[in-house]
Amino acid sequence: MHSKTITELSMALGRGEFSSEELTRYYLDRISRFNAALNTFITVTPDIALGAARKADERIRLGKAGPLTGIPIAQKDIFCSNGVKTTCGSKMLDNFVSPYDASVIERFSQAGAVMVGKTNMDEFAMGSSNETSYYGPVRNPWDSDRVPGGSSGGSAAAVAGRLVPGATGTDTGGSIRQPASFCGVTGLKPTYGLVSRYGMIAFASSLDQAGPFARTAEDCALLLSTMAGFDARDSTSIDLQIPDYRAGLGKPLAGLRIGLPTEYFGEGFDPGVIEAIEQALTVYEALGCELKEIHLPNLPLSVPVYYVVAPAECSSNLARYDGVRFGHRCEDPCDLEDMYKRSRGEGFGAEVKRRVMIGTYTLSAGYYDAYYLKAQKIRRLISDDFRRAFQDVDVIMGPTSPTTAFRLGDKMDDPITMYLSDINTIAVNLAGLPGLSIPAGLVQGLPVGLQIIGNYFTEQSLLNLADHFQRETDWHARVPQGFE
Ligand code: GLN
Repeated sequence: MHSKTITELSMALGRGEFSSEELTRYYLDRISRFNAALNTFITVTPDIALGAARKADERIRLGKAGPLTGIPIAQKDIFCSNGVKTTCGSKMLDNFVSPYDASVIERFSQAGAVMVGKTNMDEFAMGSSNETSYYGPVRNPWDSDRVPGGSSGGSAAAVAGRLVPGATGTDTGGSIRQPASFCGVTGLKPTYGLVSRYGMIAFASSLDQAGPFARTAEDCALLLSTMAGFDARDSTSIDLQIPDYRAGLGKPLAGLRIGLPTEYFGEGFDPGVIEAIEQALTVYEALGCELKEIHLPNLPLSVPVYYVVAPAECSSNLARYDGVRFGHRCEDPCDLEDMYKRSRGEGFGAEVKRRVMIGTYTLSAGYYDAYYLKAQKIRRLISDDFRRAFQDVDVIMGPTSPTTAFRLGDKMDDPITMYLSDINTIAVNLAGLPGLSIPAGLVQGLPVGLQIIGNYFTEQSLLNLADHFQRETDWHARVPQGFE
C-alpha cells in the first residue's frame, strides 16, 4: 500500500479495495517499524487515527467522501491539535496539551483525513537540520548519518520513508522546501496569507506559512486545496476563491518563460547540484519553455536581513512562554522574576535563546532604527527585485539548496554556516511569494531539489510545472534503500 500516492489510495478506497481502517493500521505498523531509526514522530496518535478512519469508512460507504477522506496524514508538531500533546519541538511545551485545533488541523479533519501523529521539528521551527529539536534529530532515510533538513524534517523524512503518504509543514525561511529537497519529496510553500496561521505556533509572524509535503505535485495539489482558504481568525489571511488545484493540472507549458537568477548558480554551490539542476532544466526546454538569465541583485542580502527580522519577531512571539499560564515552569521559584528567568532558561534550547537575545537587542531603543528598520527597507528592495523579474519571466528556477543533505553534527558548532544553507529559500519568504521544491536528481545517492518560484498566488501554475516534470521523469518515484 505504501507504494501508492494519495491520489491512488483515494481511488482504491473509493473502489473498496481496502478500508481506511486497514490502510491506517498498515501505516501505523510501518511507523512503529521505522520510527525508532528515523525519529520522525514526536507523538503517534493511533486511537485518534483509528477513530477517524472508522468515521471515514462510514463516509465512504454513504458516498460523502472527498479526495482526502480516509487518507493518513502526519501533522508537524507546530499545529495545535485538540487533546493532543503539541510541543513545537521544545522542552518548553513538553507538557502542553492543546485545548483547541489549529485551522489546518480543523480543515483536514473536516475533509475526513486521518491524523496519525505529530512530526518532529527544529525547536520552534528554528533550524535547517532538525538538530535543535528537544526530542533529538531526525535521520534522513537516504543516509541515516545525514540530516533531513529543517525545520519540517520530521514531515519530509516521514514522506520519504513512506511512513505516511502526505504531511504538513511550515516555512519561515525554507523549512518546507529545504527538507523536501534533502529528502527527495515534493514540498510547497504557498503565498503568504493563503493558509491560515490560526493555531500554528508563531515563530516569525510576517514570514510563517504552512504548506504540504507529498511524493507528487498532484498530491500536493490535493492537500493544498484542503489547507488553503480564508479564515477570519488570522488577520493576514487572504479572502480568495481557492481553486481545485488538481483539476487545474495538465495545462501545456509551451511559451512559458523561466528565469534563472545568476545569483542561484554562483560560487559556493555544489557542482553536482548545479549539474543536476541544469539537466532538469532541459526537461522544461523540451516542453517548450524558454530559459532566460535574470538578476536578483539584492538576493545576497536576504540571509542577513532575515536574521534581523526573524529573531526580532521571535523574541516578541516567544515572550508568552513565561511559566505562568502554560508550558514549562521551574521548581520552587522564590519570586516572579526567578520564575520567569529559570522557566525560560530551562525550557528553551541554545538556538532559541540565541535568537531571542538577538531579537531583543535589535528591537531595543537606540538600535531599532539601525537594525530592524534598516532590515525592513532592504526587505522591500528584495521584493522589488522579484517584482521586476516577474515583468520579464513567468517563473524563476534554481537549486532549492546549495548542497545535498549534510552530515549530522557538521554545522551545529557554526551557526553562520548553518544559516547560509538557506540562501536560496529565504528571499521568497521575505517577499511573501510561493515556492516549491521537487526531486530533480541524485548526487552520490542523495536527492537534489529543483526550486520553482512564482508570483503571488500562482500556486496553480507552480503545481502544473512540477506535475509536468513528474510526468517526464521518475526522480519523485525513487525510494531510499530499506524503505521500498
Ligand atoms: N532555517 C531557517 C531558520 O533557521 C528557516 C526556518 C523555517 O523556515 N522555519 O530560521
